[in-house]
Amino acid sequence: MIPAHIKYLIVGAGIHGLSTAYHLATALKASGRGSGEDVLVIDKGSIAAGASGIACGVIRNNYFQPAMRELMAECVDLWESDPEAYHFHNVGYMQISPESMRSDVAQIAAEQQAIGYESEFIEGADACKKYMRGIFSDWQAEGITSILHEKRGGYANNTASLYGLADKAEAAGVRIMSGTEVTELVSGSNSGAITAVETNKGRITVDEVVLAAGPWVPRLWNMLELPNFIDVKGSDGTVHHDVPMWVYWCLQEGTLGVEPGFGMADDGTMPPVIHVDNDEPLCSDVDGRVLTEDMWGIYYKPDFNFGGIQGGAAPYLVKTPAADVAIDPYGADSPEFIVDDLFAETWCSALAFCQKRYQGQIGKWRKEPSGGIGAFTADSFPVFDRFRDNCYVIADSNHGYKMLAVGKLVAEDILGTPSALLEPFRFSRFAEGKLHPVSNSPFPWS
Ligand SMILES: Cc1cc2nc3c(=O)[nH]c(=O)nc-3n(C[C@H](O)[C@H](O)[C@H](O)COP(=O)(O)OP(=O)(O)OC[C@H]3O[C@@H](n4cnc5c(N)ncnc54)[C@H](O)[C@@H]3O)c2cc1C
Repeated sequence: MIPAHIKYLIVGAGIHGLSTAYHLATALKASGRGSGEDVLVIDKGSIAAGASGIACGVIRNNYFQPAMRELMAECVDLWESDPEAYHFHNVGYMQISPESMRSDVAQIAAEQQAIGYESEFIEGADACKKYMRGIFSDWQAEGITSILHEKRGGYANNTASLYGLADKAEAAGVRIMSGTEVTELVSGSNSGAITAVETNKGRITVDEVVLAAGPWVPRLWNMLELPNFIDVKGSDGTVHHDVPMWVYWCLQEGTLGVEPGFGMADDGTMPPVIHVDNDEPLCSDVDGRVLTEDMWGIYYKPDFNFGGIQGGAAPYLVKTPAADVAIDPYGADSPEFIVDDLFAETWCSALAFCQKRYQGQIGKWRKEPSGGIGAFTADSFPVFDRFRDNCYVIADSNHGYKMLAVGKLVAEDILGTPSALLEPFRFSRFAEGKLHPVSNSPFPWS
């Protein structure tokens, strides 16, 4: 039975909804202002039914934007606080780059030092090759002139971590209801505040609502009657009119079905998550033809959860207007947004470009649907903000499995202690021209 009223209603049982619920519950109790019983999470599917449940699970700090980096440092602290419950593997992360990205990454390295985030920066082609061969003797990637080796971060097991978080929330008194879909947000007659949420199981009146709907956020944005096209003031002061607030990108990921042990470091340990960007031509490991002469990028890790070498490559822009994109069925069930044979060939060829052991392994590519879409904002960075007085929107622009701390900061904000870490992600930045700097990475999320 759904309750007729709840103080704090959270829509979405992904990483952000569950983190917000857990931290709200603990903060309410600690402050004597309530308990987890004041918090209800509803999800139209179930725990981990959205993007969080299919995420590769990579957790890193490597961002060109200072505001993202500072927020990520807070997130990594939280992952490290309970690695067992969060199924977090602290193996580190490496950003391996060509000359065109060297100065961007050097800046990230310097600023990581400034905030005390442990990392090592290696420069020069020979030094980079030597460093990589110290980890993998079969390293053979050409065109690399810098490496940022983050000693913290790594990856977590997607669904297991969400259940770990849900267990914590439920232990704190939070109720989580599956199969409960929001169909309308009802506002009061005297103010714009949301007074109730209509669901497929009935109406719930609310004091506060948190919308953490991942790829479905644009649908709830519409229910809030927020604009689908906005004015964006660029860093040069030019105002760009009618920019789509939302676009979808499709993330391409998959698994090479070798034993995960096949990808271990020479000393037998789990290696860091490897991310390589490159502008050398990429040739097929199958027949040698040139697959691309444009800049390309891949990431990969041996992963016992996925049962192989799991990773992905740069996503592609979904050209269909956001309002017309078929989000459901989501993830591996989507007939449209799953990877194809060309992706498999390109990703496996890029693996072989980097490490000799992957040459000739494409036959072990796991032929199963994988990948999924994410909703990106007008500048591809998150919007964390309050609308209509009592409605918090967590729209992470697909940056966000790693952003475990966002829910904690949102919970604190709702209870009256706003964090400076969330300020750069307010919606007003588009009109005010307070945009985040853009890097030379081929990924829309770096
Ligand atoms: C293939 C892929 C790989 C990724 N890999 C990484 C990675 O390695 N590292 C990283 O940091 N990020 C990664 N991301 C991004 C990351 O997964 C997302 O940014 C993050 O999981 C979003 O979390 P969320 O809680 O906002 O949304 P979700 O996890 O999508 O949860 C939203 C929930 O809301 C529910 N919902 C939606 N509409 C309604 C409604 N009307 N009523 C009730 N419930 C509703 C859904 O059922 C869903 O369960 C990846 C994304 C994809 C697609």
